[in-house]
Amino acid sequence: MTFDAVIIGGSYAGLSAALQLARARRNVLVIDGGSRRNRFAKASHGFLAQDGRAPGAIAATARTQLMAYPTVTWIDAYAAASRLIGSDFSVETDNGESHAAKRLILATGVADHLPDIPGLAERWGHSVFHCPYCHGYELGAGPVGVLASSALSMHHALMLPDWGPTTLFVNEAFAPDATQLDQLRRREVTLEYEPITKISGKADIELKDGRVIALNGLFTLTRTDMASPLAEQLGCTFEQGPLGPFIQTNMVKETTVPGVFACGDAARAAGSVALAVGDGALAGASAHQSLIFATCEASGYRHADKLFSPVSFITCVQFKSKFGRHARESGHPVFQSGRK
Ligand SMILES: Cc1cc2nc3c(=O)[nH]c(=O)nc-3n(C[C@H](O)[C@H](O)[C@H](O)COP(=O)(O)OP(=O)(O)OC[C@H]3O[C@@H](n4cnc5c(N)ncnc54)[C@H](O)[C@@H]3O)c2cc1C
Repeated sequence: MTFDAVIIGGSYAGLSAALQLARARRNVLVIDGGSRRNRFAKASHGFLAQDGRAPGAIAATARTQLMAYPTVTWIDAYAAASRLIGSDFSVETDNGESHAAKRLILATGVADHLPDIPGLAERWGHSVFHCPYCHGYELGAGPVGVLASSALSMHHALMLPDWGPTTLFVNEAFAPDATQLDQLRRREVTLEYEPITKISGKADIELKDGRVIALNGLFTLTRTDMASPLAEQLGCTFEQGPLGPFIQTNMVKETTVPGVFACGDAARAAGSVALAVGDGALAGASAHQSLIFATCEASGYRHADKLFSPVSFITCVQFKSKFGRHARESGHPVFQSGRK
């Protein structure tokens, strides 16, 4: 069977994309490796109507609701390889299965590379975080720290005072210049130059000179990479964000490879659950409409350049009527089947 769409990654972005296609009664396969980026955190914050809920519970509810649609198939596996064969895509999983699809949606997320400091990885998602909007409020306006990884950490350091008295641990990552020092002073950020040797307790920062600074929480920017090599395999173009590469998409979430869509953290410079869900909804609707309007594209109409439903539909119809007589007379495929 050839699926209308195979969605790789069944977390927030992939679930949201699949829901749009399922509601359009399309045959969808979701392949998911089950390693959500926020699996280390006990609670997820900032996503409307789900604030404070366990990250896994949000995904589990979404999956249950999705699987109520009869055209959805789910496989717990990793997609190991994907390629274009003729006009369809083939996806091979790590358990040896092969699946065909007219459209691909990559919702594969990113992998975080944490600073190499003893005690940090164990506290990731508990008292060490990257996003103050996600976990800053719960620290109760107590003392917080920023562990610098580069000059980009200035951004974190200047934001964090809204969540609590802030110490910037420079940790030999960069040397703040006079302007930066002035900015930090204005935001009442304490500067600590002594290198960190270890993190212990809840978020106790142990320094090389023996001092220990007790915090309610520590924030640090991670370096991110694609969680999956599939986009690269398929030949998608990447953009370079401040933290790592992400898949380039147009305004309807189609990548530079026609028929391949991407959404969520994998396709934006920085993400969240809410943004992944929004992206996924757009990618799902766009992939669906690209199945319908493919024949318009074949005749020169670029679906991806237009806003999706209902505008794209109207534009497509206008295109057909404007060029209708010529196309009809020449037997152009735009007047044949509406489906690919
Ligand atoms: C510690 C921590 C806490 C966070 N807390 C919050 C918070 O409170 N609120 C918030 O809004 N955001 C939070 N985030 C950010 C949030 O986790 C991400 O923005 C969100 O998970 C992105 O969703 P996604 O669907 O794009 O990717 P992910 O949730 O990362 O899911 C990607 C999915 O794709 C699967 N996958 C990858 N490659 C393959 C493959 N080849 N084959 C099959 N499956 C594959 C993975 O297994 C995974 O299930 C947090 C992040 C971290 C690191």
